[in-house]
Amino acid sequence: MSKTTRPWTKEELQEIVNLPTHLVAIIAADGTLINVGPVADTSLGWEPHEIQGMNLKEFIHPDDIQKTSESIQELLKGSKDVLINFTNRCLGKDGGYHWINWGGRASGGKVYALGTDVTDKIQFEQELNLQAMVLESISEGVLICNKPGIIAYANTAEEMLFGYEPEELNGKPLQTLNAWSSEESEFHLRDVMDTIRQKGVWKGEWLNRKKNGDIVTTACRVTPLTLNGEKNFVIVQRDISQEKQKEQEQERTRNRFKTFFEQSILPMEIYNLEGDRIAVNKAWCELFNLGPDEFHNNILKDSAAKEVGLYPYVLRAYAGEAVDAPAFLADLSKYSPKGRSRWIEAWLSPIFDENKKVIEIAIVLKDVTESRETQSKLERSIAEKDLAENRLSMAVNAGKIGIWEWKPSTNELHWDHTLSEIYGYEKGQYPKSLEEYEKRNHSEDNAAVQRIIKRAIQTGEPYVVEHRIWRLDGQVRWIQGSGTAFKDETGKVILLMGTVMDITDKKVAVADQSFLSQTSEILSSSFNYLENLQKMADFAARYFCDGCLIDQLHPDGTIKRIVVGGTSEEMKEKLFSIHNHYPQRYTQEHPLFISLITGRTVVIEDMLEYSKSYWSKYPEAYFTELDSVGFYSAIVVRLKGKENLLGTITFFTTRNGQYKFDARSKWLAEELAYRTSMSIENSLLYLHSQEAIKSRDEFLSIASHELKTPLTSLTLQNQMRKRQLEKDKSKVLNEKTILKMIEADDRQLRRINRLIDDMLDIARIRAEKLTIHKEQFEFCAFVKDVIERLNPQMQAAGCELTAHFCPSVTVVCDSYRIEQVVVNMLTNAMKYGAGRPINIEVTSNNLKVSLMVHDQGPGIDTKDLERIFQRFERAVTGREISGLGLGLYISRQIVELHDGALFVTSEIGRGSTFIMELPLDHG
Ligand code: ADP
Repeated sequence: MSKTTRPWTKEELQEIVNLPTHLVAIIAADGTLINVGPVADTSLGWEPHEIQGMNLKEFIHPDDIQKTSESIQELLKGSKDVLINFTNRCLGKDGGYHWINWGGRASGGKVYALGTDVTDKIQFEQELNLQAMVLESISEGVLICNKPGIIAYANTAEEMLFGYEPEELNGKPLQTLNAWSSEESEFHLRDVMDTIRQKGVWKGEWLNRKKNGDIVTTACRVTPLTLNGEKNFVIVQRDISQEKQKEQEQERTRNRFKTFFEQSILPMEIYNLEGDRIAVNKAWCELFNLGPDEFHNNILKDSAAKEVGLYPYVLRAYAGEAVDAPAFLADLSKYSPKGRSRWIEAWLSPIFDENKKVIEIAIVLKDVTESRETQSKLERSIAEKDLAENRLSMAVNAGKIGIWEWKPSTNELHWDHTLSEIYGYEKGQYPKSLEEYEKRNHSEDNAAVQRIIKRAIQTGEPYVVEHRIWRLDGQVRWIQGSGTAFKDETGKVILLMGTVMDITDKKVAVADQSFLSQTSEILSSSFNYLENLQKMADFAARYFCDGCLIDQLHPDGTIKRIVVGGTSEEMKEKLFSIHNHYPQRYTQEHPLFISLITGRTVVIEDMLEYSKSYWSKYPEAYFTELDSVGFYSAIVVRLKGKENLLGTITFFTTRNGQYKFDARSKWLAEELAYRTSMSIENSLLYLHSQEAIKSRDEFLSIASHELKTPLTSLTLQNQMRKRQLEKDKSKVLNEKTILKMIEADDRQLRRINRLIDDMLDIARIRAEKLTIHKEQFEFCAFVKDVIERLNPQMQAAGCELTAHFCPSVTVVCDSYRIEQVVVNMLTNAMKYGAGRPINIEVTSNNLKVSLMVHDQGPGIDTKDLERIFQRFERAVTGREISGLGLGLYISRQIVELHDGALFVTSEIGRGSTFIMELPLDHG
């Protein structure tokens, strides 16, 4: 409508009223509708005549009436020329209001208005506004566009997302935001349409362009929306560029980690929260020698992890701490038969999720076996180097290395203090010339030393030489000297410089070792140990003492001198005779006794002094005699085998001798004593075993003889009977003869039986299987019974028997075994005292009962009294009297099993008394 003040003509007005698409109204100043066009019918439902004459108040919505009236008045008054785009609600015939958009002007006191029904549009906008209010509050970008792709609405978030001002996107084609190429767009749009048709919604990523041209990826959700009957689309968008980037980064990190994990030369393993090993890498498989699927294990339940001390670190890692576990020794053989023990270091690290929660732990292992070995080698070599350096500085600091200088041109010699000290000079004193110096060389070594020095002067070559010197105090010492020559430009030696070290101790130690090994050789040089001991004593006396005595301890407690070494024959005799002359049972004050009992090494500096203060019990003459042999110092050491005391060894010096004792002498003495003890013990064992072999051989020959005798007689008898049977049985073999024969056979068989029983008993005793079955019985009656049964043999042996018994006593014993003992005692008495009386006596006291069997046989030598109770031991030799030497041995074993005793008192020519004691039964 153009701006004009000219009133419409009648024709013009009629034309307007009849405008086919608009509602036309002519309104009077009082608001009465004077005329209404025919369209009113279609939009509001009225016939024109039905509303003509109606007042606006009835026709306009009460909420809109005021602004409508005001606008009409403004037009009528002329304060407004035209009314444009004025919208109000007008009453339809159906009773509902319609939104009408009016344009109008006044003419001739009336308002001519042209209206369009915009109800639909208004409603759409209202709906949109309502939704927009909701959509505005959404942080995601929301777009509504119509089907042709025009943006009808964009929320603030959407506009901000793409950098547009508010409302700027409204009405713009959707294409504005698109960053795909046209083909891509077409493809994606088709996809969107297809998907929506099928599923009602499309979800995906869209490539968008911001206002500033930047490309962003958005996650989109497109849903159809019908507004006001028209198809629209709602697009909800979220910028996922950052997420995408993050995701890509994560992916990259994951890949990086994966590659790192797979390719790492360090063995790695990953555990889940339950402690299960869920992944390992190649290096891990190699370390454990396991296949890629053989790694399953639970570290929280693995005892090995606890054993090697890894467990606490595992727990710390699970608690979120990255920790280094100290190296542990892993026994890889547990995992694979091919494995071996390796030193392993472990780094444990928790793996977190985005919320900083531990989800897994990773353990990186490092096989440090080699490096540890290298390290320890390194440490060792450093330690050795340190040691060497220390040694050097110690040697220098301890003042053991002396330094000298000599100028050949002037024969000027200069020594430092240490060198003076080594040679025993006062500080600052020393030989001032080469000749003077050479005087201190040991005469045996001097020539060689001179030669070496001369050569050094001529050639200028350095030298090292070991030789002996005489100190000023007369002591012989070993030194190691070195020299280096310095030459002038013509090659002439102008200075000789060198060091000297006292190596006596080293030399002595080497010599001592060789001395000791030589003594060991001597001590085992022959089977004759006395001869060996003598040689050793002589050898020792030449090395560190003037003489050596060996005194042997005997079972009866006496000490007997067996060796005197290193002395003149005269002195040797004297030392033997002093020993024999004075009591061999020593008192506690005697140094031999002290050493023997306490095991201490007794060192006596001055024998005479010592004797006087200690040996109050010895006569003066003893000391005078000792003194007369020149005895001065002594070292007494005990000789002891593994179990037995063997005696003592004494090393001594004489007043005029060449040796003096010091700490080293004591050490040597003890070393020698040890070697001597071993040698004596071995020799005694050897002798003993020789004797044992001898008696075993003897036993065997006697045993076979003993068995053979009855067997031969049985065989002969048998042959004889056979022959007799063949001749004439009725005459010879009558009942009486046969009975006699049987008795004779019985005797022989009994003999064989007894022998075999004895041998069996021996076997039982050796195997500790000789058992006793105790019973209670009266002892006197028991003995009487045994005697009774042996009576025929007594008579046969021609022994008259007397017996005395105490009142009856009860014992708890194995009667069978005790009878065996009594029979053995009596048969021995008959055997060895045949033809002479035997006396038997049974006595008792509160504790025990004793059986004494006294014979008047040959008696037994004192030295054999114990021996005869040992296995195969006999005091008689050979076959003069039959027997195996087993009876007494078995008897003693039996009696001792009863807590009793069996022993003998005897003297040669006075018969023997064997005594058995048994404990009484008090129960
Ligand atoms: P055997 O008599 O069979 O040789 P024994 O063990 O009974 O064996 O005796 C061991 C040794 O003890 C005998 O060989 C003998 O030298 C000595 N002996 C035993 N009894 C007497 C005795 N009554 N008188 C003298 N010597 C005896």
